[in-house]
Amino acid sequence: MSDAFITNGRIIDPANNIDEVGAIFIADGKIAWVNGNGKPPEPQTADVYNATGLVVAPGLIDMHVHLREPGFEHKETIATGTAAAAAGGFTSVVCMANTSPVIDTPEKIEQIYDIAHETAETNVFPFGSITKNLAGDELTDMRGMHAAGAVGFSDDGVTVMNAALMRDALALSAEIGFPIMVHCEEHNLNARAVMNLGETSRKLGLIGSPNAAEDIIVGRDIMLAEMTGGHLHVLHVSTAGAVELIRQGKHRGVHVTAEACPHHWVLTDKEVEKQGTNARMHPPLRTQDDIDAIIEGLRDGTIDAIATDHAPHTPQEKARGMLDAPNGIIGLETCVPLVFTHLVRPGYLTVAEAIAKMTSIPAKILGIDRGTLSVGAVGDVTVIDTDLVNQVDVTKSRSKSQNTPFAGWELKGWQTITLRQGNRIGMRPSSR
Ligand SMILES: [Zn+2]
Repeated sequence: MSDAFITNGRIIDPANNIDEVGAIFIADGKIAWVNGNGKPPEPQTADVYNATGLVVAPGLIDMHVHLREPGFEHKETIATGTAAAAAGGFTSVVCMANTSPVIDTPEKIEQIYDIAHETAETNVFPFGSITKNLAGDELTDMRGMHAAGAVGFSDDGVTVMNAALMRDALALSAEIGFPIMVHCEEHNLNARAVMNLGETSRKLGLIGSPNAAEDIIVGRDIMLAEMTGGHLHVLHVSTAGAVELIRQGKHRGVHVTAEACPHHWVLTDKEVEKQGTNARMHPPLRTQDDIDAIIEGLRDGTIDAIATDHAPHTPQEKARGMLDAPNGIIGLETCVPLVFTHLVRPGYLTVAEAIAKMTSIPAKILGIDRGTLSVGAVGDVTVIDTDLVNQVDVTKSRSKSQNTPFAGWELKGWQTITLRQGNRIGMRPSSR
């Protein structure tokens, strides 16, 4: 384990309300000293990084990632997915339970931790599924999985259509304190849909899913959270209606949190015409009105966190055409520059607000001891050059898959140095 001394950076630690120029020393894997606080640094034994002109943030957390292992290792593995995460500036990722087999028992939670311990470049925190085998008809042993280290529960990819089961899951959330993360699409309204319902779907002759498919489930689940006192977390918000329902829920004091993914605040459904299956995802890309509402939600705090929904698929799978290709895009390596180019640079979020949505806020939602630069905290740090301009080069991606609509985009504001417990991670093969 290396010690690390990061000098002259703009230290931004939203959890402690710190935004000041200075230095950080990491010793024995922990933050040992921040600008005069803590045990004095011993830079002679440390890796020294000059961060002049750069932002020094807590290690970023992506609370919505599909690592695909076990079962879909042709798309991604815990090793390759976390390598992509590290290259994208993330030191911690939360992996979804829709693997094969589904992560639906305490033993399977332990297996994820075991594989991650052997192969992962970043910290990995697993979600367990809400229902057995994601079938939507019987709750899992959430109590046992939580004890085994599950940081939350999700049937992501599908919606739990049975409201009574969701009530029971949220009641257990209220009792134990973990979050229930929901993918919100009314299955009967989005059956066979491959994109958003609107002008473009009509033009292309494709079946579309209406905003109402998402809004109905978001509304239902907020009511169930209100009824039970459970913690509801709405995954990948895509509609203006969902933003407003979450806003109203928060005003009423419901324990509801939410996240939004870059593609949902950067791209509209028109992208389907240009990019085909690399613009196919669930929930789908929507309209400019929805983008405007999501950005307003990010600004006013209705949407708490930014996550990627990194969803790797092979070129062969994405080549099946709009009707048969799987949903989703990779996102770990383009999140930071999309945040800085599309949210920070236009003035929607300050640098500190953007960083909070990828560090302290997801840590709080998940109840994990990450996302801060407090003395004594785990020494995970991400350094960002907010002026660095680069093109997205998918051929250099460390993911196994390359399904992204952002290939070739020129973006400004990139992660440069990522440290996990003081050790450098995320280097691309060419820079090794
Ligand atoms: Zn989902």
